[in-house]
Amino acid sequence: MKLFKTLLAVSALCTCAEAQEVNPFGNPVVPDMTADASIILVDNTFYYYATTDGYGRHLETSGPPVVWKSKDFVHWSFSDNCFPSAAEQKYWAPSKAVEANGKWYIYPTINGYMYPAVAESPDGPFRLARGEDKFVLPYSEEATLLQGNDRGGIDIEVFVDDDGQAYVFWGMRHVARLEPDMTTVDEASITTLQTRRTEYSEGPIFFKRNGIYYYLYTIGGDERYEYYYMMSRVSPFGPYETPENDRVSTTNIETGVFGPGHGCVFNDGDDYYFAFLEFGRNSTNRQTYVNKMEFNEDGTIRPVDVTLNGVGALRKVKKSKQLKPVSAVASSVMEPLKIRHFKDERCQRTETFSASFVLDGQNGSRWMAADNDTKNQLTIDLGKKKKIRSSEICFVRPTAGHAYILEGSVDGINWEACGGHTYLRKQSPHTDKNIGKYRYLRVTITEGIKGIWEWRVY
Ligand code: CA
Repeated sequence: MKLFKTLLAVSALCTCAEAQEVNPFGNPVVPDMTADASIILVDNTFYYYATTDGYGRHLETSGPPVVWKSKDFVHWSFSDNCFPSAAEQKYWAPSKAVEANGKWYIYPTINGYMYPAVAESPDGPFRLARGEDKFVLPYSEEATLLQGNDRGGIDIEVFVDDDGQAYVFWGMRHVARLEPDMTTVDEASITTLQTRRTEYSEGPIFFKRNGIYYYLYTIGGDERYEYYYMMSRVSPFGPYETPENDRVSTTNIETGVFGPGHGCVFNDGDDYYFAFLEFGRNSTNRQTYVNKMEFNEDGTIRPVDVTLNGVGALRKVKKSKQLKPVSAVASSVMEPLKIRHFKDERCQRTETFSASFVLDGQNGSRWMAADNDTKNQLTIDLGKKKKIRSSEICFVRPTAGHAYILEGSVDGINWEACGGHTYLRKQSPHTDKNIGKYRYLRVTITEGIKGIWEWRVY
């Protein structure tokens, strides 16, 4: 009896330790590391354009260009590269797609230069809008957005006013008019905006609400990123007024948000949202979160209450019965990773990689296999045999592609293949349908990063 009680106590302890595994990264928008996001809503679909992070080489590289899409703001997907000729380049901060002349334009910074690119639809495929669709270093002469002596610049924000006139904003407070072709800057119009804060600034955000133009700009960087703003009732060039409290966002120790930086503001009818990157994984391992943006009667912006929780569904989630697995076990779990703070000592985080993180509904937590694992397997248990219609797996670093084997079992001993693919596919999630009746599902990752953000079964 004593032994039994001891066993019970140990088992309780284990359950407890498992339950105490904390996800310090909350619930970012998409299940990947992304930064510099721009979000638009077109025909009831949300489109998400961003820098793909998580390739582990700081600013020496980036992930490939992709467009994430969602019908409800909770379930996001992408399939393959959206800009084939830029797939091997350093691709950052693509801005949002804007429609003009029957086409869609984006303005990414590629290898450090800003380029207009065009497609027939908001999810691409995009190509360079001018000259040959080809990148040369340091830049493709005919294709850069700026054609004058100084072609440098980063972080385009594009804005189309109610009269159809388009403007571009970029780092260090620049603004200029775009010609009607959407690919040529009226270089005589290039202006540097005067702001109250005068430090280095990138990631401009620009929008119009109730006849007021809002210009948001960052200062700082890393964990000390902040957004400030000013507003104009006249034009994108000003004159601007700066409200007494001009700060939009800053680090919030209590909610665990460090360095809310380059993102966007988008609206869904009268509801406004602020998307921002969070710096808490250090360097180019950023994730993007969304919170509500509120305004005062006089049009001034209330400081955004930044959190890692997200805003949840913005549309009705399509009814489909999601099954609730009771547990997840893995062939191995990576050792906890202590994340080195960059500039702010208060940012102390340790990431753990428990198998149960694939079932927690949060895009900031993940299972990762240990480096020396030869199986790279994760098994979920539904508690009893159930009919499984589909499986959706969101792998870690999905833009580099995955191949995997999916198997089902009724007893956990005998397994049969029920999904997966042997060739590398770049997408998220990876979906398998008409799986069969099983109690257990097991995934074996054969190619790609051995890790999973989320696994949903229906
Ligand atoms: Ca998770």
